[in-house]
Amino acid sequence: MRTTVLVVEDEPKLRDLLRSYFERESMVVLSTASGSEGIALARRGQPDLVILDLGLPDVPGEDVAQELRTFTDVPILMLTAKASESDRIRGLELGADDYMTKPFSPRELVLRAQAILRRGRDTTSRNECSSFGQGRLVIDESRREAIVDGEVVDLTPTEWGLLLALSTTPGRVYSRFELINRIRGYEFEGYERTVDSHVKNLRHKIERDPGSPRIIETVLGGGYRLGLSRDD
Ligand code: CA
Repeated sequence: MRTTVLVVEDEPKLRDLLRSYFERESMVVLSTASGSEGIALARRGQPDLVILDLGLPDVPGEDVAQELRTFTDVPILMLTAKASESDRIRGLELGADDYMTKPFSPRELVLRAQAILRRGRDTTSRNECSSFGQGRLVIDESRREAIVDGEVVDLTPTEWGLLLALSTTPGRVYSRFELINRIRGYEFEGYERTVDSHVKNLRHKIERDPGSPRIIETVLGGGYRLGLSRDD
C-alpha cells in the first residue's frame, strides 16, 4: 500500500514543492491551504503522516493539531516560521512528532518524514534494544525487558505498555487518554485517573527519587512524557 501524506500549508509555492518531493518518493499527497479542510482530509483520507504549518489563515495550526489528536494517532511534522525554543517545545506538547523551522530544505523535510514513518512501522516489529539517557534506561522489546541503571526491572504488563508508549517519542507529551489507547493491547482497562496510579507504581520501580521523577515527567494539564532523550 502506498504511503499517504497530508500537507496543510497555505503558501502555494511551498505546498507545491512539498507535493512534488513526496510524489517523487511514490507517496500519495493530499494538500490544502486550510486548517479546517486539513482536519476533514485527515478524517477522510487516513494519511500516514501530516505536514502541518502552524501559521494558517483560518484555524491556527496548534488547534488543528489538537483536533487531530482527538481522533487519530497520525504522526505530525510541524512547520513554523518561529524559531524560538519555547515554540518548539509547545509544538511537541501539542502532539507533534517532529518540528521544522522555515526556511528549510525540502530534501531534509522528506528525510525527516521518512524517519518518522519508519519509526511508526518499527513500533510493531522492532526487535532491538533502545537506549535512553546515555544508557540509563534500556528497553529490550524482543525480551520484553526494561533495564534501569543496569538492572532488569520487573514490570506489570500495564507498566511495560506505559513505558513502551512513552518511549516511542521521547519528550513528546502523551495525554492520559492517548496512553490508555496505546496500551490497550496490554489488557489495560480503566479510566484516565488510573493511568496516574500506574505511573506512580512505575516510578517507584524506575526512578531514583520517585518524588522528583526524571524518567517519567508529569506535564501539568497535558499528561506524561519521557524525560530522557534517545541515544544514537
Ligand atoms: Ca503559513
